[in-house]
Amino acid sequence: MRAILFQGKGQVAVGEVPKPTLKDPGDVLVRITLAAICGSDLHIYHGAIPMLPGSSLGHEFVGVVEAVGEGVQSLKPGDRVVGPFHVACGACRACRRGEFNLCEKRGVYGYGPLMGNLPGAQAEWLLVPYGDVNLRKLPEKLSEERAIFAGDILSTAFGGLVQGGLRPGERVAVIGAGPVGLMAVESALALGASKVLVLDRVKDRLEMAEAIGAIPIHVERENPKRRVLEETQDEGADLVVEAVGGEATVALAFELVRPGGRISALGVTTTTTFPFPLNSALVRDLTFRIGLANVHHYIDQVLALLEADRLKPERVISHVLPLEEAPRGYELFDRKEARKVLLKVG
Ligand code: NAD
Ligand code: ZN
Ligand code: ZN
Repeated sequence: MRAILFQGKGQVAVGEVPKPTLKDPGDVLVRITLAAICGSDLHIYHGAIPMLPGSSLGHEFVGVVEAVGEGVQSLKPGDRVVGPFHVACGACRACRRGEFNLCEKRGVYGYGPLMGNLPGAQAEWLLVPYGDVNLRKLPEKLSEERAIFAGDILSTAFGGLVQGGLRPGERVAVIGAGPVGLMAVESALALGASKVLVLDRVKDRLEMAEAIGAIPIHVERENPKRRVLEETQDEGADLVVEAVGGEATVALAFELVRPGGRISALGVTTTTTFPFPLNSALVRDLTFRIGLANVHHYIDQVLALLEADRLKPERVISHVLPLEEAPRGYELFDRKEARKVLLKVG
């Protein structure tokens, strides 16, 4: 079957790999119909996250069930499905606590040896382990272009806001207007934020954020801290969502948050230490949280909101390319010339 393979820094290619087959009773074989390129794939593309050349990439997908193992109860061939980007077993201590992102057997599709060496979803087929845990049947009328966002970036952003304690009426600052930041705008408004400020340096992305309902702030054309203070009656944001990854934007989050406020950091980073502003956080009574998304915990809520038309993430899609054109999709997305790239597979 065809799959998108990592070749080395800055290089991906369409290649041939063996089609997977059912192995364990809980396995589900999914024929992928639509996949997506994520900002998290770019960390691999940049060589920041280790990946063996020749390994398949991708973790955002929707598809159709082709075959199920004898232990699978909730799905049958022909069902349209979406799944979290990360895999959980559903039975370990972490899963029983609802912390699926901390599953003792966790893995991320197409994310290399640090994340379980699972095959990627930018491919014609994907073998999903523990299928009852790691797949959801799509509501009948939900389009694939909308549903694919539930498996990662929309549930990630939605969960980041909920875990950041967002209350209706609050003012949210989102650092980064990439697809994840745009999903944070979409979710914050749906969850009742009174004002959403978005910081980026890419014009097209700021314009999209504004179209969704946020106030755009170009970080190179104005002083972001001053503008956020102006927009919040000199207090700062109640909740800051960091949707870039790395030291500089986490440090900025501490500058934008109001006393008593919260920071929810979603960006993936390989930075190991960070000069935490301890005294400032103490006297300003700040809360900082960071973590890989717990998509299983939020995906059903998100699918219900998508079905009810309360979230419309598909408006951020800029490119739908055939799988063969994934290398061009990676280039465009890396250069920020594409906002969100979907790959049509089936
Ligand atoms: P992206 O690379 O397309 O978007 C990042 C955006 O940040 C870009 O628009 C860029 O212009 C902007 N940016 C960079 N530096 C900035 C700065 N100093 N100030 C303001 N904006 C700045 O990626 P994405 O798909 O939106 O993903 C964002 C991050 O979320 C990535 O690190 C990704 O790995 C991560 N992510 C995390 C999880 C999780 O489980 N926590 C899940 C999905 C994605
Ligand atoms: Zn992703
Ligand atoms: Zn588990």
